[in-house]
Amino acid sequence: MAAPPHSLPHAALEAWSLSGGSFSGASFMQPPQVKLAQTLTMGAGLTCIAAIHAGERVLTEPAAAACAMPMCDAARCMGCLRSLAPPPHELPLPKLAQCWPRLHACAVQCKGGCGALFCSPPCERLAAKHHGIICPGPGKKEDRLLAFCRALPLRLAPVAGAPLLALRLAAHALALRRQGVEDVPFLSAAPIAGLCEHHLPASTLLRTHHAELLRRETLAQLRATPDECEWVSTQAYAALLGRVLANQAQLRPRSAFDAYGAALRASTHDRDARSKLVDALLDCGPEGKDGDRREALEALEEPTRVDGTGVFRLHSKFNHSCTPNCEAQSHPFEDASIDVICIRDVHPGEALTISYCDPKLSRMHRRRVLKENHGFDCACTRCLAEDDNL
Ligand SMILES: [Zn+2]
Ligand SMILES: [Zn+2]
Ligand SMILES: [Zn+2]
Repeated sequence: MAAPPHSLPHAALEAWSLSGGSFSGASFMQPPQVKLAQTLTMGAGLTCIAAIHAGERVLTEPAAAACAMPMCDAARCMGCLRSLAPPPHELPLPKLAQCWPRLHACAVQCKGGCGALFCSPPCERLAAKHHGIICPGPGKKEDRLLAFCRALPLRLAPVAGAPLLALRLAAHALALRRQGVEDVPFLSAAPIAGLCEHHLPASTLLRTHHAELLRRETLAQLRATPDECEWVSTQAYAALLGRVLANQAQLRPRSAFDAYGAALRASTHDRDARSKLVDALLDCGPEGKDGDRREALEALEEPTRVDGTGVFRLHSKFNHSCTPNCEAQSHPFEDASIDVICIRDVHPGEALTISYCDPKLSRMHRRRVLKENHGFDCACTRCLAEDDNL
């Protein structure tokens, strides 16, 4: 399908991302109808310079860094996170089994011997910007950073991927420095400078209590020299972690099972025939209730589902509103990119906004989430108009 006229071609953004595109000066490539501007009430943010209609794509952006969440064990591409799960032993419906993506069969293994998988040579090249120096090499080595993230308390689960994203960004910055491409302060390094700076409140536990510990593990994993350790100072690492925490977006690439399920759904329009297919798939007979079936389907899908997180340079520049005019969606091409879609018509000069929290929450709940996770008191028109007591 052709991209809508307003969207920036994916390849152009990718080239920009690969070159470590920066938001300052001429190297800032942006979708043609969007500009970075100071707003009166919300600081710097994205503003549209031409009308965008509801349903139109504002941009598609590859991640500056992306990784699977710490608890995720599904086989996936280290670069784009797409599922590389082999089909279950006996997929019912042999004809439909052909719809199971065969990516696992052509996946390439990391040449460093760590066992990481890449869905394709381009993904291997893309990931090389960080994996090249993170790769622990052959043999099972204890991944202490991952172990730390896995052990975080449940309430920190949504942000548990942040240290892993910070590791990738630091690795990319360090790789550029080691190659002599850049000699700038750590936070000004290309992969990091493009991320929006947010000031998180001191109450963000992960940031205040663990930053130094995480920094040391990160530097150990990167086999940093004393000079490099000085470059990634405690303060600089904490600021990087803060940026990641404030900007990370959930990624949910489609699982191999999704593709199979879609083929299943598309295989017949007859509801009865379809439900018989589902019965056959689950082998639970027609007496199973709808809820039981959904649970069984989810259990079947679970091992192939990739739960991911990523940070995006342009996406990080969107300001918040509790009545946003844009929405970020996982990319339909199943890789570590996101689309930002306009959800209502916007006029030239209007600020483009997304919601940093679930807009369905009550005013009080939204404001608490925004204060705790993003450190601001929301003063959007909806927050000003609504009443906590309603
Ligand atoms: Zn890939
Ligand atoms: Zn490797
Ligand atoms: Zn608000």
